[in-house]
Amino acid sequence: MDLGIKGKIALVTAASKGLGKAVATQLAIEGAEVIICSRDPESLKIAEAEIVKITNSTVHTFSCDVTNEDQVKQMIDLIEQKYGSIEILVTNAGGPPAGSFGDFSVDDYRKAIELNLLSTISLCKKVVGKMQLQNWGRIVMITSVSVKQPIDNLILSNTARTGVIGFMKSLSNKVAQDGVTVNAICPGYTKTQRVEKLAQDFANNNDSAPEQFYIKLEADIPMGRIGTTKEFAQSVAFLVSQGAGYITGVSLKVDGGFAKGLF
Ligand code: NAD
Repeated sequence: MDLGIKGKIALVTAASKGLGKAVATQLAIEGAEVIICSRDPESLKIAEAEIVKITNSTVHTFSCDVTNEDQVKQMIDLIEQKYGSIEILVTNAGGPPAGSFGDFSVDDYRKAIELNLLSTISLCKKVVGKMQLQNWGRIVMITSVSVKQPIDNLILSNTARTGVIGFMKSLSNKVAQDGVTVNAICPGYTKTQRVEKLAQDFANNNDSAPEQFYIKLEADIPMGRIGTTKEFAQSVAFLVSQGAGYITGVSLKVDGGFAKGLF
């Protein structure tokens, strides 16, 4: 199925690993002109080589810490000069540390909000105006299934990410008549290197095997397995496609049924 995004300028942030890299790869497969960023130039180079090997297409890279508004502005100015206005924006960043109420200071909450909420806002502030002028744009914000069902021991993530949903819905209404859709995608447990490391840490701490970690997680997932990055990336690719032009203001779970609420 042709998604109708060939040649579209697509920025995927925090994309040197995991979900971001999988999304960038999928958009490149669909023919978009893909730009990725993350903080570390070395990991970016490795990610670029991997994506090029899989897709045989060019990928552009920028070092940028998405929590630094100046770096975000500079990166987007450079992208516009070199490649043109961004037509597809997929916002992503790392996750805040695990822990519960007693573990964190107010400053820890501030950092989590900078990482997951304010980074999303500063990226949108820079690209939305051009999308409106072009009368076409797609924004997808990577959050977490925790916006549907708070996850135990992830109070920072549960708090900061729900703000993204309020922002997403408000922005989607504002730009709905300008050909710009704005949605959030909410991954459940998905097998990235980070999750593999969590499994290994669990095994080391409990004198067991990594498989035990997955067995424990998967017991709570109706599909009985954690998701693949490819499944996640294909869902994002659909949301940025031409065919998804009437979908806006949605928070889409990609979680194998993990969140048990109705919406
Ligand atoms: P990951 O740790 O594998 O990858 C995170 C990427 O973000 C890396 O490329 C890293 O370099 C980059 N990054 C981190 N902070 C950055 C910053 N300030 N500026 C620029 N780049 C930055 O994580 P992942 O598993 O791919 O998850 C991506 C996001 O989705 C995270 O926020 C995570 O908490 C969330 N999430 C993941 C899962 C899952 O099961 N994998 C589930 C729910 C939510």
